[in-house]
Amino acid sequence: MKNPVRHLSDPVRFVRGVGPVRENMLARLEVRTAEDLLYFFPFRYEDRRNIVPLSALRGGETASAAARVVAFEKRKSMKKGLSVITVLLSDGRGMARAVWFNRVGLEKILVPGVRVLLYGKADVRGGTLQMTNPEFEILDEGEDEAEAAGIMPVYPSTAGLSQKAIRKMVRSAIDDFLPSLEEFLPGDFRLRLSLSGIRDSIKEMHFPSSREDWKAARHRLAFDEFFLLQAGLALRRRRTGEDAGTAPSLPPGKLVRKCLNELLPFPLTPGQRKAVDEIFGDMSRSVPMNRLLQGDVGSGKTAVGLLALLAALDGGCQGAFLAPTEILARQHFQRLAPLVGALGAKCALLTGSLPAKEKEGIQKGLEAGEIDIAIGTHALISEKTGFARMGLAIVDEQHRFGVLQKHAFRSKGENPHVLVMTATPIPRTLTLTVYGDLSVSVIPDLPPGRQPVETRAVSRKKIPSLLSFLDDRMSDGERVYWICPLIEESEKMDLSAAEARYEELQQRFPSRGVGILHGRLPADEKEKVMDDFQKGTVSLLVSTTVVEVGVDVPEATVMVVEDAARFGLSQLHQLRGRVGRGGRKGWCILVASPGTQESRERIEAFCSESSGFAIAEADLRLRGPGEVCGVRQSGITDFRVADLVRDADLLGSARKEAFSLIGEDPDLSSCPKLKERLYSLLGRSLNLVETA
Ligand code: ADP
Ligand code: MG
Repeated sequence: MKNPVRHLSDPVRFVRGVGPVRENMLARLEVRTAEDLLYFFPFRYEDRRNIVPLSALRGGETASAAARVVAFEKRKSMKKGLSVITVLLSDGRGMARAVWFNRVGLEKILVPGVRVLLYGKADVRGGTLQMTNPEFEILDEGEDEAEAAGIMPVYPSTAGLSQKAIRKMVRSAIDDFLPSLEEFLPGDFRLRLSLSGIRDSIKEMHFPSSREDWKAARHRLAFDEFFLLQAGLALRRRRTGEDAGTAPSLPPGKLVRKCLNELLPFPLTPGQRKAVDEIFGDMSRSVPMNRLLQGDVGSGKTAVGLLALLAALDGGCQGAFLAPTEILARQHFQRLAPLVGALGAKCALLTGSLPAKEKEGIQKGLEAGEIDIAIGTHALISEKTGFARMGLAIVDEQHRFGVLQKHAFRSKGENPHVLVMTATPIPRTLTLTVYGDLSVSVIPDLPPGRQPVETRAVSRKKIPSLLSFLDDRMSDGERVYWICPLIEESEKMDLSAAEARYEELQQRFPSRGVGILHGRLPADEKEKVMDDFQKGTVSLLVSTTVVEVGVDVPEATVMVVEDAARFGLSQLHQLRGRVGRGGRKGWCILVASPGTQESRERIEAFCSESSGFAIAEADLRLRGPGEVCGVRQSGITDFRVADLVRDADLLGSARKEAFSLIGEDPDLSSCPKLKERLYSLLGRSLNLVETA
């Protein structure tokens, strides 16, 4: 006999109707346990309750119909090598045909005489109404078709798993496993907040009985997601408050003063000044700093980072500065190393492309504490890299790193201070979730003399006049970026498009240096091209988005972006931020194919908006949080039900409730079920939230 005890954590193959094949398919959908299946919600619904008599069904209409099989025919279509099953149907007053291609075994089911419920699109073929590949269900004799039709869930699927199969598996999970899911929110709490019960809510999400019930169910489940996350954050905040390890106290000293007074070639802007003060305030304390520095492209975050690094050195610690690309790491190194050197400290560049020997040398130097500052790429995170006493870890363009990478980086020190920097502002809904309890510094101003970059969208037809415009700019000694999109799935094609563009531009501008830069180039070639562009021997740089972040060439004034519609808005904003840095007017020209209405609107919005913050908000609405902030792999914003944009208010109230509950009852002794639920989640994902 089968063991009747069922656990939500049972592998999904324990659910009736799930065999090894389906188990694998479900795994691809991240469904591994019975509970995962219960929480695997439809992404839309089809209201099939409206059953149309065949006599009233029109061509082009999508509808449900209930009818009896009158005749059945199976044949091979010679032309296409398909097996075709045709069924003639009648509901007493009207007739229709249903056709399925390549469906094995239908002849055993659709025998003349059975009643079926069909759902699909009707067409008129040869004067007869026909449904092609409709979904169907066999009705028992006397079964009410309206009840069988209902509001049908449509699930995100994978090849090979039909909607029908998923529905069936979900139904068995609801029958057999849902009863084991215990309500974890206390009754009075639910009553006060009008939240429906957990089991009803899950059932309603899959098979809604009405729109109202569905709404109530969705509300409850979205609340759960926000509430559990916030309760976890509240708990963790208490804990870190209690037993956070001690960080070295690193108040600014003589290196910082000397840099500010003698070495920096410019006075700090008020925004930089304020950010620096906040950072120094944090670093002076023995609680590890966990601060986000947010400042639009070109606002001067690097200089702020440098001062923080020097404060670490002043306190006898090392500092590390992590950048997402080789080009950017090198640029930071070129900028900072002379200043650091002038202060008598030692700075090294550590990237993956260094010769093994050199790399080892630097790693030894860091471990021995002979090198004071390491600037580098992912090589800094590598297991082989260790520090004698890392007091400060800076992550530049932090959205380009996964949570785990950032975690690995900070683990190179013992409770180091951490500063993460970004030009992509993080909307408040996200600072309340993913970024949990990060302190934020904002640089609201740009260095003096910057003019807004003029942004225009032009069609491909305008490329010739664009080229003569570029010629004018270059004859004034200005430099031009020409960005071609490169996305992974069509990398080869895109690369050749970029190369073709490069050759074309070379021919068009034979007397100007034209260069090409993309991720596939060996590191030394990349370096050379960037150097040439910086020096001006190359004045037109055709590039993929490797220049997207951080690159700073003051003489660059024009940014041309081809196929602009393929980029996210924040990405475009980053690109635009590469020009107009040197006091000369900057231009951003988006070459866009006409595209969809939506992409036109996006581009228009971008042209008229220069604030990075407004753009990030728009991007969040259009593309979702994972894309915008690079937090996809953390899973934290992969809510199954809740939507950070639509449910922003709910997030606020869930946070309030969670923090007040944890405040009153930090051990959750008044609600053991909630405690259990929360702790099982804490183990799974909460430790991935940015920690304080
Ligand atoms: P981002 O914030 O995008 O990282 P950077 O740190 O690259 O910006 O700085 C952009 C440019 O502005 C650099 O050329 C830098 O030297 C310059 N800069 C930074 N701070 C100031 C300042 N206070 N006054 C003038 N120029 C500055
Ligand atoms: Mg930068």
